[in-house]
Amino acid sequence: MNRVQRFVGFVYREVRMRTREGRPQWIEIKLEPHGGIRGRCSQCQRPAPGYDRLAERRWQSVPLWGIPTYFCYAPRRVECGEHGVIIEHLPWSEGKRRVTCAMMVFLARWARRLSWRETAQVFGTSWETVYRSVEWLVQWGLAHRELQGVESLGVDEIHWGHGLRANNFLTVIYQIDTYCRRLLWVGKRRSQSTLRRGLKALGPEVVKGLRFVCSDMWTPYLKVLAAEAGQALQVLDRFHITTHLNQAVDQVRRAESTRLRAVSPPKAQRLKHLRWPLLRRGNRVRGRARQKLNALLASKLATARAWELKETFGHFWDYKSLIWAGAFLDYWCYRALRSRLEPMKKVARMLRAHEKLLLNWFRAKGEISNGAVEGLNNKLRVVTRRSYGFRTYEAMEIALYHTLGRLPEPESTHSFC
Ligand SMILES: [Zn+2]
Repeated sequence: MNRVQRFVGFVYREVRMRTREGRPQWIEIKLEPHGGIRGRCSQCQRPAPGYDRLAERRWQSVPLWGIPTYFCYAPRRVECGEHGVIIEHLPWSEGKRRVTCAMMVFLARWARRLSWRETAQVFGTSWETVYRSVEWLVQWGLAHRELQGVESLGVDEIHWGHGLRANNFLTVIYQIDTYCRRLLWVGKRRSQSTLRRGLKALGPEVVKGLRFVCSDMWTPYLKVLAAEAGQALQVLDRFHITTHLNQAVDQVRRAESTRLRAVSPPKAQRLKHLRWPLLRRGNRVRGRARQKLNALLASKLATARAWELKETFGHFWDYKSLIWAGAFLDYWCYRALRSRLEPMKKVARMLRAHEKLLLNWFRAKGEISNGAVEGLNNKLRVVTRRSYGFRTYEAMEIALYHTLGRLPEPESTHSFC
């Protein structure tokens, strides 16, 4: 057992299996203080003379052969010169917790692969214990994580839960450098003050060292980023622009579909089942959907024109030269504004208003991880969707840091899982 986990100043006394009607119930591992080594103060960890001994306590530890396993030990109290009579330092435990540190790491790691409820069921413990274990590991990780060398930030808003109230939105800050993508911060709401809070939590050194900040055209974010990280190049994310274009096409399709159903049902048929094909990139639409799409494009329907505009905009991202990209943008906006399609005109006006930031995308090419925000958002949604079981926002926040934060973990001699 010393090869698995060695605790200096303590020895393993005996291991015993408790049975009932011949079946194993649990395993007890008894620990004793090492005869020649004095206990340490739990505050300052300095050796101190012994005072007395408390009753035996139990800590749930990593199960052996699937049988619940407990550490049993009667803690000493020591008389520290500085802290008085105090309980001794126990290297396998933290504070008043009833599970060992190894067990907390063990549960927290499994809680990344299974849901928290499943983890609790499989390892014979409670949901609450799993939650507290994850929380402990996350807090340790946040306190020990390295924030040096963060050069690119992605900021986004995420919808969470039911409804559209301010509290149903989260602001997330990602690191999106090509060599490291992770969640750095998450907070409730999507206002200027939320983002300020987030940047403050990262600290002035990180904010001053930023070279790129990437976000949607959401004014509160743009304002705060310009004010707080003025030295960094502000970039609009390709993925967000594509989303805006897709939403516009979908609005055109819905409006036209409603209009046609009233006047000419056969024509309305043409727009059926086209929602998803229209949102994909043109060369990715195959099979029957492709046939329907071709038929639509041959028609003079508004949806077809909107889709064509969206598809054309895709070329924008392929330009190598800033000047040509700018010229293309002008041309595209000119066409969109004359399309008589209100949703498309709205996008064109928005792009025009943010032309400078949009062109920054070419200045940052290759430096920030392309599609990182989109990828991290997708992973994040897996957690928030699963999290309807979470009782509180705090639990979800912990889960997000746990799965997306790439946090460091305390080192141990043995990896249990
Ligand atoms: Zn002390």
